Amino acid sequence: MNLHEYQGKEILSSFGVRVQRGIVADNHKSAVDAAKQLSAETGTGWWVIKAQIHAGGRGKGGGVKLAKNLGEVESISKNIIGMMLKTPQTPPQGKKVHQVLIAEDVYYPGDSEPEEFYMSVLLNRGAGKNMIMYSTEGGMDIETVAEETPHLIFLEEVDPATGLLPFQARKIAFNLGLSGKAFKEMTKFATSLYEAYVKSDATLFEINPVLKTSDDKILAVDAKVTLDNNALFRHKDYVDLRDLREESPIEVEANAAGLNYVDLDGNVGCMVNGAGLAMSTMDLIKQSGGEPANFLDVGGTADAERVETGFRIILKDPAVKAILVNIFGGIVRCDRVAQGIVDAYKNMGDEIKVPIIVRLQGTNAVEAKELIDKSGLNVISVVEFKEAADKVQEVLG
Ligand code: GDP
Ligand code: MN
Repeated sequence: MNLHEYQGKEILSSFGVRVQRGIVADNHKSAVDAAKQLSAETGTGWWVIKAQIHAGGRGKGGGVKLAKNLGEVESISKNIIGMMLKTPQTPPQGKKVHQVLIAEDVYYPGDSEPEEFYMSVLLNRGAGKNMIMYSTEGGMDIETVAEETPHLIFLEEVDPATGLLPFQARKIAFNLGLSGKAFKEMTKFATSLYEAYVKSDATLFEINPVLKTSDDKILAVDAKVTLDNNALFRHKDYVDLRDLREESPIEVEANAAGLNYVDLDGNVGCMVNGAGLAMSTMDLIKQSGGEPANFLDVGGTADAERVETGFRIILKDPAVKAILVNIFGGIVRCDRVAQGIVDAYKNMGDEIKVPIIVRLQGTNAVEAKELIDKSGLNVISVVEFKEAADKVQEVLG
């Protein structure tokens, strides 16, 4: 589950990580109130208005703006709320902004220049350890840094059994070129950030930029956080942080129906039982010249009701030109699945306007094929994997 910047910062704050403070607002009036309240609490005279969407690169897309008075807070908020914000990470049409974060300006002038760093915590599956990735080159795309100046990215592996050890935190601060108060602040920052990552059961905390202010404070200006869905049961208070407006509506509906569905860009809908078979079916579609429109694992019970729900969800995507059903019948016998497909098809009548190719293999596969062939419906039944691929190619023309 992905979080908004303001939600990520709240979690960070609760673990003692210093953050750029802010108050979220969903209209320009409450944005002005938020700005006033923030000034009372932090003494800030300038504010940054930050669009809250699940995508990075907002600054470049015009979704992060500095306001130097309350009039500007109002006009900038008015512009940003409701806009379709386009960044390198959004779909081409952009993402609608429902909320802005009114944040204190932390780039104020002082004894030294503010400095931007990069820091993230994530799992290194290969090593079986957590990893802190950090760099002196903050504020820009870490992908670009990795490509152009890879020697400026540091990795610190952390054994989950010991956690981040004090010498490791000092090494991080040292490699970032810090000294004095900022050095100490950075060791505390990295330590609390790691703790937040572990205790919130996150799979990613990416802070870009981590800022050294002109008076040597270290704080998180941005926060990209992904929580592990499988651990949400331990964090009842995080469940409400999910913002369904940020997710694909088809995915939300499918998940509510208990289907494992991921929206993709292609033209061939697939309905499969088992994630492994679903993956190989997608490969097969690609090899036969099509592009999968989705990943859909209907799970163990491919009965008429589930098949119908599956068809309905796949057909919500207007790009779908054919549907490939690939079911392995083990405990669920193929003839029962075939009956489910026939019943679902009859029930949906002319809602189905694209050809359906069904490949059923396993227990009672022969009976299943017969059942479909005799149904007189526009369903092409095949037995072999390769045949299914050829049929997909054929119907796509
Ligand atoms: P992103 O573009 O989606 O990654 O959003 P960020 O939260 O990282 O903000 C983008 C940029 O806005 C930062 O890299 C900063 O340069 C700038 N910015 C953020 N906060 C402040 C602030 O308090 N004052 C000023 N002047 N600029 C800021
Ligand atoms: Mn950022």
